Amino acid sequence: MAQDTEQSYTGGVLPVDDEGFVIDTEDAEERETAYRERGTSRPITVVGNPVLHKECKDVTAFDDELAKLVDDMFATQRVAQGVGVAANQVGVDLKVFVYDCMDDEGVRHVGVVCNPVLQELPADRRSLDDSGEGCLSVPTAYAPLARPDYAVVTGQDEQGNPIKVRGNGYFARCLQHETDHLYGYLYIDRLSKRERKDALRQMEEGTPRYPVVPND
Ligand SMILES: [Zn+2]
Repeated sequence: MAQDTEQSYTGGVLPVDDEGFVIDTEDAEERETAYRERGTSRPITVVGNPVLHKECKDVTAFDDELAKLVDDMFATQRVAQGVGVAANQVGVDLKVFVYDCMDDEGVRHVGVVCNPVLQELPADRRSLDDSGEGCLSVPTAYAPLARPDYAVVTGQDEQGNPIKVRGNGYFARCLQHETDHLYGYLYIDRLSKRERKDALRQMEEGTPRYPVVPND
């Protein structure tokens, strides 16, 4: 069970609401544009690359190098037309992800989470949504996957300020998917053996629309 921490969520890069959650919907377009215009897109690692299959290192230095990585991840996300990118998907062994994702109400969320921890949900918030899911690291494959339709992630922003982010619907799925990446899990690891095999077959048969890092 997740514990309530003693951290205070007073806002850093983003303002917070009265429950302490970041407001990641304000100026979403302007912020996303600023990140990606400073960045350079990088090729995406794909299933089988070791960096995707182990827990990443914690972010401990909230410095210019991290800022550059975040910019590059936004640039990559745009080129690959993704709604979220984890650092290990651009080959970097660090716990950070970025997102640019619509929730089920059509509201756009843009943000950065370092050292994310997915919070346990109270039983009454645990309704499952079995929509389809895909991943830039498993190009061209999709599969239905049941996940809670509400998620809360705690972590830090790119300046090291404690943050918490919450999402519904498709955005909840995104927060869970990206956090999974940083602990070494792909969504296909949560599928049945048969569904996983089918997803890998879809990937074999498809051609990615963006640059990928070939596996050895
Ligand atoms: Zn993914």
